[in-house]
Amino acid sequence: MSLSDIKSRIEKAEAAAGRDIGSTKLIAVSKVQPNERVHGVLEQGHRLFGENKVQEAQGKWPDFRAEFGPVDVHLIGPLQTNKVKAAVELFDAIHAVDRPKLARKIASEIQAQGKSPDLFIQVNTGEEDQKAGVLPAEADAFIKECRDMDLTIAGLMVIPPVDEEPSLHFALLRKIAERNGIDGLSMGMSSDFERAVALGATHIRVGSAIFGDRTYS
Ligand SMILES: *Cc1c(COP(=O)(O)O)cnc(C)c1O
Repeated sequence: MSLSDIKSRIEKAEAAAGRDIGSTKLIAVSKVQPNERVHGVLEQGHRLFGENKVQEAQGKWPDFRAEFGPVDVHLIGPLQTNKVKAAVELFDAIHAVDRPKLARKIASEIQAQGKSPDLFIQVNTGEEDQKAGVLPAEADAFIKECRDMDLTIAGLMVIPPVDEEPSLHFALLRKIAERNGIDGLSMGMSSDFERAVALGATHIRVGSAIFGDRTYS
């Protein structure tokens, strides 16, 4: 699918939900994609991308930014504390804040670098062992803990279990955000972004529907 096809599907979903057209940000997830595909999407004027690994992003975005000027790049994958410094240097947003030690490290890098990426807290709504994120029952306390560190929380993020109806998870994420006064909702991927838009997503993360399948070598 082309970028413009995806954009028109987003607009249709926004209209159907009675939302303002353009109120959903499209994060083009470029992880693992060949550079020429990413280049093609940059040439079409898109300026918001997602990566899930610090090192992979370091290998491409300084060059793309040198060529195209400012590009917003969001880290959407899990972050280890030893990579926080590099992540704060490189990214405009971090979507998988999920534990106090990581939050503390981010807070101190924000102080040290005078930069403040938008922060999203990942919630493991499916309570899956292998998945990052705070449990729903612990989300309120963790949000408060982050705020006590003077961190501003831009939003919440979810990756629903593959075999469940994502809308239930999107609705739960939204409920947790609302009761904590958080506006941002990072939810929805290639297979379910219209349902996420219907439930109020502010950021959708779409990879393969824009770039084609990822080929892992
Ligand atoms: C890879 C990835 C996506 C994009 O997935 P697609 O199915 O290709 O759209 C979205 N969110 C996260 C966290 C990812 O790691």
